[in-house]
Amino acid sequence: MKQIVIISGKGGTGKTTVAAALARIVQQKILVDVDVDAANLEIVTDAKLVSSEPFSDAQISSIDTEKCIRCDLCRQNCRFGAIDVDAGGNYFVDEHSCEGCKVCQLVCPADAVSVSETQSGTIKKSQTPYGTLWHGELSTGRDNSGKMVTFLREKGAKEAQDANLPYVLIDGAPGVGCQVIASVTGVDMALIVSEPTLSAIHDLKRIAELAQHFRVPAILVVNKTTINKSLTNEIKRWANSQNIPIAGEIPVDVRIVKSMAQRKSPLEIGDEKLSKIYYGIWSKVSEFIEQKL
Ligand code: SF4
Ligand code: SF4
Repeated sequence: MKQIVIISGKGGTGKTTVAAALARIVQQKILVDVDVDAANLEIVTDAKLVSSEPFSDAQISSIDTEKCIRCDLCRQNCRFGAIDVDAGGNYFVDEHSCEGCKVCQLVCPADAVSVSETQSGTIKKSQTPYGTLWHGELSTGRDNSGKMVTFLREKGAKEAQDANLPYVLIDGAPGVGCQVIASVTGVDMALIVSEPTLSAIHDLKRIAELAQHFRVPAILVVNKTTINKSLTNEIKRWANSQNIPIAGEIPVDVRIVKSMAQRKSPLEIGDEKLSKIYYGIWSKVSEFIEQKL
């Protein structure tokens, strides 16, 4: 079973458009959307929720106002500024600031503080016409989602293994933060989607470096090539210098944006030339996997 992550250095390069097309092209796979801040593969694959479960990766403290003797020690010792006093003089914990370090519990002389697990999001399993999709949603105010990314990937990999499916296709998070590191670590290959703009090229170099750091072979798709031919050529020259093969070049086409808005993939536009590009991308990716692995 091979895990393929689709990533881009920045948002808006068309990563999910490519993922939506591959979801239809690649047979026998599990889909995983680890862009947990803005999961949208479910929308463009017409996913129907099958089950959901709470996800917890953090602890927060709470104060029992009946037991509290208002000594202020917890507030003075909380280095995250998570403890405050309300208008009635009662101490309380701001759950969005609490890091669950338990210092308040240790210093409390009245045994008024308890620390418990908090739900930081929801893990969802959905069924699409193209196979199972694992995806997640973070609770409002929660932004550290590396653990959720890892958890989703484990779910997808296990289901693929149990069903003897050859691929897990992972729609990664944008950027180069902890979510992306969790998306890339231990996968078999990365399909990077970039576009010919200066900021995208800058981010492409950073994400390629990240893949290289984690020894993940990378292949590149240049999206929206027609917005800037000269920068497209610059990306191709750079990719060549880094031994990163080009899996495909996708021109700007307003019908692609429209198809996504209608919860469809670019394949459903019915343009033979465009479909050929996406099928060509998968053909290059599968050849690349054969060669590298
Ligand atoms: S657990 Fe730590 S961060 Fe949370 S309120 Fe207590 S001292 Fe502050
Ligand atoms: S340390 Fe305990 S008793 Fe003192 S203010 Fe905080 S919760 Fe109340």
